[in-house]
Amino acid sequence: MAVIGIDLGTTNSLAAYWKDQAVQLIENEKGEVLLPSVVGAVSGEGFLVGREAKERLLTHPEATAASFKCFMGTAREYELDGRVYTPMELSAMVLERIRKNAEYVLKEEIEEAIITVPAYFNDKQRSDTKKAAQIAGLKADRLINEPSAAALAYQMKYGAEEKTLLVFDFGGGTLDLSYVECFDNVIEILAVAGDNHLGGDDIDRAIGAYFCRENGLQEESLSLEDQAQLRKLSEQAKCALESQETVPMELQVEGRSCRAVLEEEILFEICMPIFGKIRNLFLHILEDAGSRVSQIDDLIMVGGSSRLPVVKRFLTELLGKEPVVLGDTDKVVALGAGAYAGIRQRREEIRDMLLTDVCPFTLGIGVLNRSNREKDILSPMIERNSTLPASHRSRFVTTSDFQKEIMVRIYQGEEYYVDNNVFLGQVSIEVAQKPAGQAWIEVQFTYDINGILHVAAENEMGERRQVLLANQTLSEAELRQYTKEMEKVMVPPVQQPENQELLARFLHEYENSVGGRREQIGAMVGWILSKLESGRRKEVRNGVETAKRWLEQLEIQRNMQEELLFDGELKEGSWEEEPFWGEETFWEEEPEKIVGEKNGGDEE
Ligand code: ADP
Ligand code: MG
Repeated sequence: MAVIGIDLGTTNSLAAYWKDQAVQLIENEKGEVLLPSVVGAVSGEGFLVGREAKERLLTHPEATAASFKCFMGTAREYELDGRVYTPMELSAMVLERIRKNAEYVLKEEIEEAIITVPAYFNDKQRSDTKKAAQIAGLKADRLINEPSAAALAYQMKYGAEEKTLLVFDFGGGTLDLSYVECFDNVIEILAVAGDNHLGGDDIDRAIGAYFCRENGLQEESLSLEDQAQLRKLSEQAKCALESQETVPMELQVEGRSCRAVLEEEILFEICMPIFGKIRNLFLHILEDAGSRVSQIDDLIMVGGSSRLPVVKRFLTELLGKEPVVLGDTDKVVALGAGAYAGIRQRREEIRDMLLTDVCPFTLGIGVLNRSNREKDILSPMIERNSTLPASHRSRFVTTSDFQKEIMVRIYQGEEYYVDNNVFLGQVSIEVAQKPAGQAWIEVQFTYDINGILHVAAENEMGERRQVLLANQTLSEAELRQYTKEMEKVMVPPVQQPENQELLARFLHEYENSVGGRREQIGAMVGWILSKLESGRRKEVRNGVETAKRWLEQLEIQRNMQEELLFDGELKEGSWEEEPFWGEETFWEEEPEKIVGEKNGGDEE
């Protein structure tokens, strides 16, 4: 019984597994690794999946479905040979083909699959992916994000140092950027940005338009057959540029032989508008992550379109240094998924990695809209791009006099009015009967990496109601287990007992100091609190480590001072004149920040 990793892509899908201390890609009987994510129906003969189906995309567009991953989780349907299929069912056919091939190659049953999904996939898209796996006879309890898989592949190659990475995934129809931090055994996605309509297909279209310009053709007036041929020719010419400097293109149109030449320089020109969009997304994600180009250790190139030399050239200019290429860019995500399959099977050679995610959408509750009582608005509880697991607590008050209960209605989405967001569920709780605005409840949202949302409401009498919303069916035992795990997460770092104790020791030092020393300790506490409340695991960890080091020094120095005092060599209050901690010991960590806070938050 084996576990495999699957990159279920929009354009291509592939699988990998862990064997002999390394990840191995799974080939089909023809030695191909990539399976085009295309399904075609052949009247009376069943289905074609992969390369053969992709070939028929040109000749039988009405009986062929492609790029259905873009519509996963939506109501979009595809009609093939008189029957209607959902994106989930079509994905299941791709997964089934992968499972059968893997069983044939590995000569054993596939017990489980680790499937990768875009980081921005919502609950519905994730749960449909799991259902597709189920239909295909695969257990897929754990989905991992594509950028996490790429970061894992990077770590396998370069070792697990502390790194800040930007994963640049340029596929057939989409571009996904992810800002990822790796430290200890944690891979954490801090921000995602992307464009669902920007990929290799756009480059093919731009090349096709160039070909038409060169030959004085009107693309729209070409026959459908010719348009399809032109698209195919364009993609072939594009891919040939990986190994050739000049690529001749030729196509017979209405008995006329049309030609053009594609070169790197020409393609660079053609791609300018696409590069402009990439540049904007790049700036956007840096802003979201509160980061700068100089803070990125490496940019990892992923996806088939990253194979283009012009894309690498553009990124090198943008970044000011060479991006990292981990072998074939279109296999990187699968390599990461295969490595994770090894982790899943607890292969000792590979360390257990904790892949953390971001919540790709906002979760919140509906609250009264004072200007239009009919249309509730969304009050966000867990913001989009929060690191998971995440937990947030807020207080809400009643809106009518002597109201008996509050109904907490839970939504997912980015829209202002709740009606435009996705309704997830509700929980009601009694409240103290008081005039409007005087009775209150506290609501806590906790969302974990498995896509399970726990919502608890507590009234001023201390009564509590809770609801667990999951995108999968859970057994009683699992429910109990999850609730227990949620409770751990619900205590934010600042309230965890060990951190409380740490802060108490600082306050003790503060109380026992005067003047400059006291001021400095005050600034330290402010800095530590900002780290504990940052919501980022890495920041919290760094904050705690630094705090412990500082505290140790503070205590040593205080003991020394006390001894000196005792010996009568120092008068009380002399801390101020001569800060004993010395610049380098204290301020090496985050000097600007501490000075900034002391000065009331001004930037230096
Ligand atoms: P997805 O993640 O969308 O499933 P892939 O990462 O497999 O897709 O990328 C598919 C895209 O990569 C297609 O647009 C294809 O034309 C393009 N591609 C594949 N090989 C090359 C190559 N050698 N040079 C340029 N583009 C390529
Ligand atoms: Mg992909």
